[in-house]
Amino acid sequence: MTEHAELSSDRLKQHFAQRVLHQARQVLELWQRLQHSAWSSVYRDELLAANQRLGQCAERFQQPLHAQLASAIEQCLQAVEANRGRLNSALIGELDSLMQRLARSGLRQGDGSDPGILSLLRKPIYLALLDGERSERLARQLEFFGFTALPLDSAEAFRKALRQRHPAAIVMEVDFAGNGGGLQLAEEAQQGLEHKLPVLFFSEQEADTRTRLAAVRAGGEDFFSGSLDASTLLERLEDLTRLTQTEPYKVLIVDDSRAQTTFTERMLNSAGIITRSLTDPIQVMAALGDFQPDLIILDMYMPECLGTELAKVIRHHERYVSVPIIYLSAEDDIDKQLDAMGEGGDDFLTKPIQARHLIATVRNRAARARNLKARMVRDSLTGLYNHTHILQLLEDARVRARRDQQPLSFAMLDIDHFKQVNDRYGHPMGDRVIKSLALFLKQRLRKSDHIGRYGGEEFAVVLPDTDAATAARVLDDIRRRFAEIHFPAQPQDLSCSFSCGIAELHGEQEAKALASHADEALYRAKHAGRNRVETFTSSLRHLHEALA
Ligand code: GH3
Ligand code: MG
Ligand code: MG
Repeated sequence: MTEHAELSSDRLKQHFAQRVLHQARQVLELWQRLQHSAWSSVYRDELLAANQRLGQCAERFQQPLHAQLASAIEQCLQAVEANRGRLNSALIGELDSLMQRLARSGLRQGDGSDPGILSLLRKPIYLALLDGERSERLARQLEFFGFTALPLDSAEAFRKALRQRHPAAIVMEVDFAGNGGGLQLAEEAQQGLEHKLPVLFFSEQEADTRTRLAAVRAGGEDFFSGSLDASTLLERLEDLTRLTQTEPYKVLIVDDSRAQTTFTERMLNSAGIITRSLTDPIQVMAALGDFQPDLIILDMYMPECLGTELAKVIRHHERYVSVPIIYLSAEDDIDKQLDAMGEGGDDFLTKPIQARHLIATVRNRAARARNLKARMVRDSLTGLYNHTHILQLLEDARVRARRDQQPLSFAMLDIDHFKQVNDRYGHPMGDRVIKSLALFLKQRLRKSDHIGRYGGEEFAVVLPDTDAATAARVLDDIRRRFAEIHFPAQPQDLSCSFSCGIAELHGEQEAKALASHADEALYRAKHAGRNRVETFTSSLRHLHEALA
């Protein structure tokens, strides 16, 4: 192929891939709408039609993964019809997991899908910064994280690039091409567009409210002033270029009347909410651990116990102190209701209840609780799970692995000679490296893996359904690539490596033991020279057991 022919065939591929991605986006946007509305025949028809367009488009442009997902979604929608047109928890769960796969396909490398097409699907990021060198450096860094970034050095170059292709996002300096020129240029770029291009503005000087307002009007999604930190920028670009999906809410219903639970489940399912019900309140702790609901609905009067008593028992467990509890009862004595709220409940709804009222209450409470929880369980520097929570997730994964007879691996990572990074380049640079590794792990691991910041420069990863050999392969690949990153710094660029220890769950082992095995393997990796992955082996295990 001549260079020219190759180029145009690439362009063509890119064009086709864009069409498929566009259809996929429409399906995903419709699915997200269910989180704010309710299932109806009109909604179903719309979803069905959009999905069929996706299927046809994928067939035509030979995108087997998208075609396969569209066909699986269609089957699910048919199953809803077969279920007298009603959604149930299993169908919501299945549809959502297909949608999540659809959201990931074509936007990110990995997951075993064709990286060729995937990287073509990622639109470029346009960088319009005054300092050309800064621009180039930033472009190189973004490239390590799978973005294509195009540094542009003049208003003309910017306009030309824009005519050729719309970017995924624009990083624009306020004074690019003259005083306030960046603002004008961004505004010009948005002219006549149905969907605004996301712009991240940057200004070296602290900007006043008037400038910031102008930035917002020109499609500014964020405003950075002072220094332009690559990892913060990367995070925002990640958010902006990914189709973020809200997972369906999960609600646990405890009520001794089967008729009542069925009725409540139906109302919630029709709103895309996944439910599980219990008629025996004694089972509540097991169900909480297994199902991890966003919210609990309790009946007030059950033969075994009162709803208020059960709420107290739930609140005994620190882990569930903030899960919202709603009482649903025929009790209409306001004093008794108020008493019940004092006993660990968040709301009191009286039967009979209107579907709209119940759904709105559940959604509001669950959304706020999720938001709060996200802040409680995450580390503020990296956004990864904190130490306590990652161990909690390890414990949950352990229980599940035992039950499903699936392997489970736990990995611990520690950046090599990190003290030197701080000493030579300063603490802020150290922070930047930590943030970059966090982002790198998020990008390279599966969504089902849990990533935590274990301590200062230590990370932990829970890998469900993964044996030690597979985990070692995945992490070794990440290790190799991470070590290749050059962080721009003075007097010379900086690169960092990490060491990693992996342990696989065995028998009735406790989470703590698994973590200490991974730690031991990490220790060995450090002693064997660092920048390597070690697996906890059975010979070590025997030694461990002998010493215990
Ligand atoms: P090794 O290869 O053996 O792991 O050597 P090391 O230097 O990485 O290990 P050591 O545990 O001696 O030092 C870790 C350093 O990490 C010490 C601490 O100051 C630094 N550190 C811990 N948390 C943070 C953080 O949040 N930000 C920054 N910049 N540095 C941190
Ligand atoms: Mg350390
Ligand atoms: Mg270290």
